[in-house]
Amino acid sequence: MTGDRAPGTSDDTGCHILHVDMDAFYASVEVRDRPGLAGTPVIVGAAGGRSVVLSATYEARAFGVRSAMPMSRARRLCPQAVIIPPRHGLYAAVSREVMAVFGSVTPEVEPLALDEAFLDVSGALRRLGGPAQIGELIRATIGGQQGITCSVGVAPCKFIAKLASTAAKPDGLLVIPADGILDFLHPLPVSALWGVGERTGRFLASLGLRTVADIAHEKSIGAEETFASDVDDPEVIRRELLRLSGRTARGLRRAGCAARTVVVKLRLADFTTITRSRTLPEPTDLAQEIYATSCELYAAAGLDARARLRLVGVRATGLVASAAAESQLAFGDRPASWREAERALDMIAGRFGTDAVRPAALVDGSRPDGNPPGGAGPAGTGLTGTRPARPDLPGGNRPDGNPPGGAGPAGTGLTGTRPAGTGLTGVRPAGPG
Ligand SMILES: [Mg+2]
Repeated sequence: MTGDRAPGTSDDTGCHILHVDMDAFYASVEVRDRPGLAGTPVIVGAAGGRSVVLSATYEARAFGVRSAMPMSRARRLCPQAVIIPPRHGLYAAVSREVMAVFGSVTPEVEPLALDEAFLDVSGALRRLGGPAQIGELIRATIGGQQGITCSVGVAPCKFIAKLASTAAKPDGLLVIPADGILDFLHPLPVSALWGVGERTGRFLASLGLRTVADIAHEKSIGAEETFASDVDDPEVIRRELLRLSGRTARGLRRAGCAARTVVVKLRLADFTTITRSRTLPEPTDLAQEIYATSCELYAAAGLDARARLRLVGVRATGLVASAAAESQLAFGDRPASWREAERALDMIAGRFGTDAVRPAALVDGSRPDGNPPGGAGPAGTGLTGTRPARPDLPGGNRPDGNPPGGAGPAGTGLTGTRPAGTGLTGVRPAGPG
């Protein structure tokens, strides 16, 4: 991609994150040591019956061969490919040298696998030039020292930088400036979004959502609940708003979106329907913020104390791709810990069901301080005191007698969730590629 986005022609201001990824790492190292194989299909993997492809040259990929594919299938797809057994010691040695090159550029290196890493080059700009220039320097250095190629994504945040390096492959560099993120994301398949795996991808496809743009243009995401019998207790209504805010936020995150506007719908026993909406200073995909806004909208509706409700709903509209929202957030003062906490909860919910973890206010009806659950705005939405998946595990109330979740971000600790052995992994396995 260097061709259409040469460094210097793209504005890389603010693009301080680089994702560097070796191209077809194991296969490239093998071809380097056997120059006669250059330009031919090569597959690295044990030749045995049940083994899988560890790495394949782009010439082999042209036949449909992919990493992690059973070797038997790869051989059917590309019978002429040369199969080479792996030399892991050699790859590890090359990896150490490559990582040393990264370390010579910046101390801020976060390796993701043997052959890829994020680099924050903020501190290297004065010494080495702009981010794209630094990316080209790394590519030239590795090419010169190791005789293999890599691709570099340059962006304001990690998520976009990683997508950019993939788009730049092989042997390229791609800058995605902050104001180009949406244009870059929209044509990508939904699978490009954080957290969208095979299952969610199928679910979104069933809704007709195949690209990021499909999701971004979807009008709204939300949830509503009709009570079994009409309710006039504000505490019960706020608790329902909390539950619906959680569902709405999960829906947003699952779709890779953030919302600019929160809408609350209140239907009275006589079917009069009231909607109130508020546009937030910055888009959000956080239950905590959606809930706080919902409570304010509910209060602002000025319902009579005896008003009986048959239905409440929470909707998020004005959707934007959450990656774009995140790059804005980087400059805001919103605590990142909320986002991380809620994403961690998504993963737990994905594995154990949405009942495995939920806000303390939804665990039981009372708080030790006698205040209504979740009635105190953001602080009361605390996601601490989460409910252990098994009732025999400790969790829930805090030993200091304070209400669960009263401490804000610092108190978001994911204690009380299922302990060790949950095997939570947040990132897709980064195989050599
Ligand atoms: Mg790679």
